[in-house]
Amino acid sequence: MNNGRGMLIIISGPSGSGKGTVVNRLCPKGADSEFAVSISVTTRAPREGEIDGANYFFRSKREFHELLSNGELLESAMFCGHYYGTPSGYVGQMLDAGKNVVLEIEVNGALQVKKKLPECALIFLLPPTIAELKRRLAGRASETAESQTDRLRRAREEIKLIDQYDYLVINDDVDEAVANIRTIVRAEKLKPLRSGFSISKWRNPDA
Ligand code: 5GP
Repeated sequence: MNNGRGMLIIISGPSGSGKGTVVNRLCPKGADSEFAVSISVTTRAPREGEIDGANYFFRSKREFHELLSNGELLESAMFCGHYYGTPSGYVGQMLDAGKNVVLEIEVNGALQVKKKLPECALIFLLPPTIAELKRRLAGRASETAESQTDRLRRAREEIKLIDQYDYLVINDDVDEAVANIRTIVRAEKLKPLRSGFSISKWRNPDA
């Protein structure tokens, strides 16, 4: 039993935590998938291989601010010198269609969403050790040394906000991390308020 509406799942974690891989595995593409991934708007330049409308909507700062002032973003934040935001229209449509919507966003945006929609689940993803985080960041050819240092500094700041999250998932093994997230979603859906359970039907024993 559930009330037909999907749930909003937010996955945050430092660059190098493996969020992208985990989210891709959790949300296979296709109309019959129970999960839908939101595509964010960003002012950062596309990395090699990234496609507008698939990885992000790549927009100018002026276009970004227009979306923001028109109230078209559910949340927005600055990350390492670039703006990022979640288009609200798609999220609402997918939730209404009964899909579980996944946002892969940084902490400030995640906490904005939690304030607006407290029923969302905030999941923080971490690699098993700081050494592993550094190793994964250093292995990213797409990042300059300066950007890697910036992202590591940012990771240390983000980790300080971990206690505001509902769940912590360690990404040592991708399959296990994905299985843990699926377990979280199942448990969240069994919460009485979300499940569509109606106590009034149970008040009259003869009904
Ligand atoms: P990247 O530049 O590596 O693609 O993303 C940088 C950071 O921005 C990551 O932590 C990513 O999760 C976050 N991010 C991506 N899209 C959004 C968004 O729409 N809103 C917010 N607040 N953060 C985002």
